[in-house]
Amino acid sequence: MNLCDIRTIKDTMAMFGLTFRKEFGQNFLTDREVVAEIAESCGGPNTKTVLEIGAGCGSLTHELALIYENVVALEIDRGLIPLLKYTLGEHRNIKVINADVMKTDIPELLGDAFEKGGVSVCANLPYYITTPILLELLDSRLPFDSITVMIQSEVADRLCALPGTPNYGSVTAYLNYFGTCRKLMKVPAGKFLPPPKVDSAVVRIDLYRDRPCKPTDEKIFFRTMRAAFEQRRKTLPNALSAGFGEISKAEITDAILSCGFDANIRGERLSVSEFCTLSDKLYELIKSK
Ligand code: SAM
Repeated sequence: MNLCDIRTIKDTMAMFGLTFRKEFGQNFLTDREVVAEIAESCGGPNTKTVLEIGAGCGSLTHELALIYENVVALEIDRGLIPLLKYTLGEHRNIKVINADVMKTDIPELLGDAFEKGGVSVCANLPYYITTPILLELLDSRLPFDSITVMIQSEVADRLCALPGTPNYGSVTAYLNYFGTCRKLMKVPAGKFLPPPKVDSAVVRIDLYRDRPCKPTDEKIFFRTMRAAFEQRRKTLPNALSAGFGEISKAEITDAILSCGFDANIRGERLSVSEFCTLSDKLYELIKSK
């Protein structure tokens, strides 16, 4: 069965009395080459388990199961579960679970897989929840090797932007703390059923096993980035004094200069490692009070 074939998708949905549910962002991929490429590129030679979020009618799940040892597929829509049993029944290495990823205890679900190692995430989700899910997965610090997600094309440009470029923002900097991000491919709206309003792109985030930036105090580090981006049009001394009431603007300016940055620099020009250096200086200042 070709689960990317439009007729097959429509007929199978009809067979189970289902319609595409907008509230769950159900836009299914219809290009087998794209699906196969996503499945191929979301893992690596050491990948044993893939957590798929949002199985839909199972096209990507099927391709993943052909490549990797185990696939755990979450699907929020209860109506799709019998359909997935029908479309994926031949695979013994797929576990389909009816669950909302936001309410799922992932460490409990994947505990054994994490012990073996080689766990990656692959997700084609509704756009409105992709960034929150991505941030949640990063924040969880679970030992995933990589996270591959389909997102709105402009969001992909933001995630992969370099410091000092217009697309670089707080989410980019936050993500760069946990890993490296690259855009794998663009996917035009016409490759989905029904087609969404915008084009998409697939990005892959490779998570650091040992993070290169090790701020002395992570809370101060995140506060520094947040303050810098909350007022991104302001110069860094002004933006940081709004976020750090406990230290003076003069002290903040000295800290910025001692890192070798111009006093009028804007936060959007700093890389994660530069934020780390600066946040250590701010930490020393706060600690000395
Ligand atoms: N993977 C399929 C594909 O590529 O064709 C389906 C992708 S479709 C864009 C997104 C799927 O995610 C839908 O089947 C939807 O029901 C499911 N979904 C939406 N929100 C979810 C959530 N919070 N947890 C798990 N699945 C979710």
